[in-house]
Amino acid sequence: MRRRNALSPQTMAAQALHMLDGENGAVVPAMHSASTFARDENYDLQDGFVYSRYGSPTTSQGERIIAELEGAASSLLFNSGMSATVALVEALPMGAHVVAQSMMYHVGLNWLNRQAARGVIGFDSFEAGNLAALEAAIKPEKTKLVWIETPANGDWSITDIAVAARLAHAAGAILMCDSTAAPPCTTRPLALGADLSFHSATKYLNGHSDLTAGVLSAKDGLPIWEGILEVRSFQGTVLPGFEAWLLIRGLRTLFIRYAQASKNAMELARHFESHPAIERVLYPGLPSHPGHVVAKQQMTGGFGGMMSLLLKGKEGRALKAAKACNVFIPATSLGGVESLIEHRHTVAGPDYGIPENLLRLSIGIEAVDDLIADLEQALEAGH
Ligand SMILES: *Cc1c(COP(=O)(O)O)cnc(C)c1O
Repeated sequence: MRRRNALSPQTMAAQALHMLDGENGAVVPAMHSASTFARDENYDLQDGFVYSRYGSPTTSQGERIIAELEGAASSLLFNSGMSATVALVEALPMGAHVVAQSMMYHVGLNWLNRQAARGVIGFDSFEAGNLAALEAAIKPEKTKLVWIETPANGDWSITDIAVAARLAHAAGAILMCDSTAAPPCTTRPLALGADLSFHSATKYLNGHSDLTAGVLSAKDGLPIWEGILEVRSFQGTVLPGFEAWLLIRGLRTLFIRYAQASKNAMELARHFESHPAIERVLYPGLPSHPGHVVAKQQMTGGFGGMMSLLLKGKEGRALKAAKACNVFIPATSLGGVESLIEHRHTVAGPDYGIPENLLRLSIGIEAVDDLIADLEQALEAGH
């Protein structure tokens, strides 16, 4: 590999760290699917790889690229975001106290509640974006992990990562930031003081809705890091070679995809903010969003494509509008090149406090006029 000191992250992503295949000069790295690796004549491992449950060359290339983009000492790829979550909680000391938001990715919240119910962890939640509530929920010397998600699923509330890190560290806890909605082209949580950065790489990092993956990235010398790797090796939840290869391909266009989604989302948010059928647009890029000032500081590469619309009018209108879309696809997930619309209240169920009149949008890279026109007609149809 050639040295590329001081290149910008955008260049490193576009060139996949310039990982040319040494054998033949192919500008795209080869995909490795081997489950086992031969030793040399001295019975030594040739490149550190033993058996694919522990890791393999293509996966480790993906990890190097993400670590570089995150400014991390090291990254670990998992076969889903949730398996990364499970490994992190599993690596905590038995009975450790965990603090997380009451509004966050709902399956992750389920997992924390479930582990708390089994006595594996102690768990308290706080209102997303409310730093005083976070401070009150932390138990000095007992809390081991503070878990934030910013922007957070649902209302896209923003948490000041640097302040959350100070609060966590003052109590002897580490801070994990789920930055799925704010990939490293806009936010680098480790640089702001977080100890761990988390992504569902299923979303923006891959960006093409054709794989599930998760990634944790750590600053240097984090004590829990070895334990997380051990759990991944026991569970076999490492990202396989083919998915890692697809993910590397997706990462190469991360910056341009995210910039276009951010541009589309801003235009769409502004358009619907004053629309007669809309009560509120929840988008951190709008000055009316309560987290806007902090978002502007910590999302330096754009506000992304995630927003929610709160509709006016009688119950059932939001679901009707979601069904009436022709360009927006009525599916869950986020961060892909295609725009998605979801009635979260129906999908997650009534237990998560998601308003009935809320529509969650993941804005893609299509022509924004098509997206705006589609929502206009869907709101009319849902009337
Ligand atoms: C999707 C998602 C996850 C879970 O990741 P999977 O890849 O679906 O397992 C976690 N956090 C956030 C914010 C997500 O959007």
